[in-house]
This record gives sequence, C-alpha cells and structure tokens, in this order.
Amino acid sequence: MELREKLEILADAAKYDASCASSGTEKRDSRDGGLGSTEGMGICHAYAPDGRCISLLKVLLTNACVFDCAYCINRASSNVRRARFSVREIVELTLDFYRRNYIEGLFLSSGIIRSPDYTMEQIVRVARELRETHGFKGYIHLKTIPDADPALLAEAGRHADRLSINVELPDAGSLKALAPEKDGGQIRVAMAGLRARIDEAKEARDEAARVKVAMAGGRRAAAPRFAPAGQSTQMIVGADSSTDETVLNTSAALYGSYRLRRVYFSAYSPIPDAAAILPPVAPPLVREHRLYQADWLLRFYGFTAPEVMAGGEGGMLDLEVDPKLAWALKHRAAFPVDVNRAEREMLLRVPGLGAKTVEKIVAARRVRSFRMADLARLRVNLRKVGPFITAVDHHPRGGLLDRADLRAMLVPRDGLAERAGVLPAGIPVGRAVQLPLFGAA
Ligand code: SF4
Repeated sequence: MELREKLEILADAAKYDASCASSGTEKRDSRDGGLGSTEGMGICHAYAPDGRCISLLKVLLTNACVFDCAYCINRASSNVRRARFSVREIVELTLDFYRRNYIEGLFLSSGIIRSPDYTMEQIVRVARELRETHGFKGYIHLKTIPDADPALLAEAGRHADRLSINVELPDAGSLKALAPEKDGGQIRVAMAGLRARIDEAKEARDEAARVKVAMAGGRRAAAPRFAPAGQSTQMIVGADSSTDETVLNTSAALYGSYRLRRVYFSAYSPIPDAAAILPPVAPPLVREHRLYQADWLLRFYGFTAPEVMAGGEGGMLDLEVDPKLAWALKHRAAFPVDVNRAEREMLLRVPGLGAKTVEKIVAARRVRSFRMADLARLRVNLRKVGPFITAVDHHPRGGLLDRADLRAMLVPRDGLAERAGVLPAGIPVGRAVQLPLFGAA
C-alpha cells in the first residue's frame, strides 16, 4: 500500500480521538470552490504553557485491533480497510512534515497489535527514534495502553511531553458491557502509576532548581524528565445511557485522583454494523459542548459537580443555555451582585463574566467604580450580565429577576433585552463597544 494511502486511512481513523483542541466546527470543503477545508484529518492542536498553539501530526500506527470494543470503528469485527505504518515510516513522516513546517509535533495512538506490550513497544520505538536518533525536540503526545508493562509506560514518559490513557466510558458497568477486554481497574492503576512518576519527576526538577540556586548559578544537575505536559484522558459520551451527572462526577473524580490536565469528551459517532446495544444516532453535539462548559466551571469557576447539575433536570445539563446561566436562573435569589463590591467568587458566578474578566474587574475597581460602559470596554456581553449585576449606572428594573420569561429573554435574540429594560439606554445589545474603560460615559 502506498504511504499516501496509509496516511489517508490512519489519519482518518485517528479523528475519533478527541484529545486535541480543534473540533466542532461546520463542514466546509474547497472541492465546492474556494480555498481550504475543515474536513481534512491528520492535524490536531495542543497548547504550550505560554498559550502558543502547536500543530501535531495526528495518526494511528495501525487501525487493526485484536480487541472488539463495540463503539469503535477499528474493532476486530469491523469491516473497515486496514493499514499499518512501520516505525520507520512514522518517524520519517514526522520529520518530513516538520521540515516542511506543516507540523510541530506528533500525536500517536494505535489499535492493539498482537498484545498490549507489543503495541506499546512499537509506540515507544517511534518516540525513542525521534528523540535519540534524530534529536527531535518537537512536542510528542503518546496514547498509552494501560495493560502494557509499566517499564514501557515509564520509557514512554521519558520521551513524550504528554501521555494519555482513555478511560473510554463514564461508567464501569458500561465499560464491561461495551469493551469487555478492557479492565477499568487496570486503567486506573496505570493512571495512578503515571501520576506517581509525573509527581516524582516534578519534585526532582524542583530540587534540581533549588540546588542550582544554592550553588549560585552553578551547573544544574540533570533532572529526570517524565511527561512534563502531564496526562489526559477521553470519555465517550452518548454510547451508553450515562447521564451528564455521571459523566461530570467521573470527570471530577479523575481530576481529583490523578491530577489530569484534561478530560476530553467525545460525542459518540454511530459506526457501520454497530451492535444493537448502541444508540442508532449520535447525541447532539451541543451536549459535548455543554459538558466542556461544565468542566470549565468545575476547574476554574469554583463550582462543584452537584451545583452545576442543579442547573439541569434529571441528571442532564440544559442544552438551551450554558451551565452557568442555567445555574443562575435557578438561583435568582443570589443576584443581582454589585460588580464594585462583590467577592471575586461571586463575580465568577455571574453569567457572561469570564475568569479573566473577573480578574480585570477586581484589579480595576480598586481605583475606579465600574459603569456599564466599562464592562462594554472589557467586551462583556451586556445583555447577558445585565439582569444579574448592579453597577454605578445600572440597577436592573424591579422584578426583572422574578420574571417568568427571563430565561426566554436571555436565549440570544437581539433586541429583547433592551426592550425589557435590562440595559441602560444607549448601550448596544449583545455587542462590545469601544469606550474608554475609565472614560466619562
Ligand atoms: S482497543 Fe482501542 S482501537 Fe481497539 S477496539 Fe478498543 S477502542 Fe478500538
């Protein structure tokens, strides 16, 4: 098989792994005219600690697999075209694409070839050859196999920037039913092992830095390197009957137990010849989006999983409005809050105020009281925050928070908020306006 053909098959097969940051846009293709495509596979993105976006070649070593997970297009009983790269081919592709400036790193996963150990050996060989034979300094993310020998996982961590192990499903019973060859307990043991090694390496790095300082600029002892960008995982959403509440509780437990950098959610895609226990249609993509928003609230906004779920119904998040707005609409007695006096923790609960904006407000209000125009200058969606805050020149009209149609007013429809008197006159609805932060407005 030609290399190009293999690349087409194995880059396409890798698209089901959600562990990258670019996804969810509409389909566009230059075959209908124009330039570019949003459908091409093979490139995903990671973010460096300084916020820089890194393009990665995202491929499988092979889409052949001896396991038969019901939800997976690459399962042993699937009728798809199979392909397999050799270690040398992946190494050369990575180096070639890197030299041409197409990519800055590699995201490598694989179906299980022969055994977990054999597969992990192949994956590790790719990373080792890139690092040791070719001196490759780019980003490497390796998907690891939990049943593989811990010594192989340890070597993977020495070469990779990030490691991930897919937890697959939010519920242990579902994993048993849909992926009987996978062992939920072993997945967690492997995650705990990675966490211990990541922690050890970090302690050693910190110690090496302290020694360097103590030696007043002397030579720094080399600290062992182990997956400095940490570990992540992926959960498939909508392949089983797990509620959003189960998904978020599992996610919160994983963050707490293994200090994961990210839990990625991947909406289940129906596959050809699927088992009868799988749903015939994909869950709405917005469900995945709401779960990511909820995940953000847990990690950066001080919400607990039960609080986030209190905004939904029957264990499911509200699909119509974002989880913070859903929570606020059900806890109206907590509002309005004064942007000039409220605690930071309470400002983080205001719909429409992001964490960075809250930091700016808290810093700026020390020297000047906030008006609505100041918030507009910070590109805050005034229509959304309006009912939930007070500012020097803004006090929501009496009874606004008690109105039965407040929710309907806040589902994005230009003009409604202004007509309902949510905003002071003269402030455009749903749009940031350029006004001086501390101007005369
Ligand atoms: S082990 Fe991975 S590649 Fe193989 S069938 Fe299961 S999910 Fe698919």
